[in-house]
Amino acid sequence: IVPCYNEQEALPIFYEESTKVLAGMDCEYEFLFVNDGSKDGTLELLKEFAKEDTHVTYIGFSRNFGKEAAMYAGLEQSNGDYVVIIDADLQDPPELIEEMYATLLEGEYDCVGSRRVTRKGESKIRSFFARQFYKIIRKISQTDIVDGARDFRMMTRQMVDSIISVKEYNRFSKGIFAWVGYRTKWLEFENIQRVCGTTKWSFWGLFIYAIDGIVA
Ligand code: UDP
Ligand code: MG
Repeated sequence: IVPCYNEQEALPIFYEESTKVLAGMDCEYEFLFVNDGSKDGTLELLKEFAKEDTHVTYIGFSRNFGKEAAMYAGLEQSNGDYVVIIDADLQDPPELIEEMYATLLEGEYDCVGSRRVTRKGESKIRSFFARQFYKIIRKISQTDIVDGARDFRMMTRQMVDSIISVKEYNRFSKGIFAWVGYRTKWLEFENIQRVCGTTKWSFWGLFIYAIDGIVA
């Protein structure tokens, strides 16, 4: 599941890189792109990919609803035995998918998540507020919300179905992923800069998201 908002620059690179990884794996796979009301050429690119590659499907929103809505729609539409959520800007290394899959096949875990252990390359102010947010939410919530955890993860069908059954309206997926339980293994990696394009989050947007997280 790949949430996409104005990713026309990053998408071709993402598609190529992740296809390399997936095609080399011993399993069937499918891309489910979610076009979150992009205003650039994202939708045209997705149409092209889908025309030429039967592994590609996409759904699209009538406007920009945000990454949370895009992830939820993707999870609802998904039907794989294992589901990965991954960003389109290559900040989530697709190579990790192989390791995630191998780990889940062993059967000990239901989810393999990813966690960046540095915030290198991110603005100091953003890092500062992000850390404060994690401090606060970890204090007020009994759910174990891991600092640096990304949405990038592979989950079993059973876990995905649990997540879909949570019908919260203002979703804070990092909380929901942890709240539904299940056994999660964490893979750690250093922060990677976006391959191209710019972040879709403004400071104010992140601030409102943090409030959503706390209230939820
Ligand atoms: N995204 C989305 N809708 C939005 C904002 C972002 O679908 O309203 C997607 C975006 O295209 C990317 C992922 O969510 O695939 C993460 O966004 P971004 O890289 O801008 O966030 P950052 O990594 O800066 O936190
Ligand atoms: Mg990013």
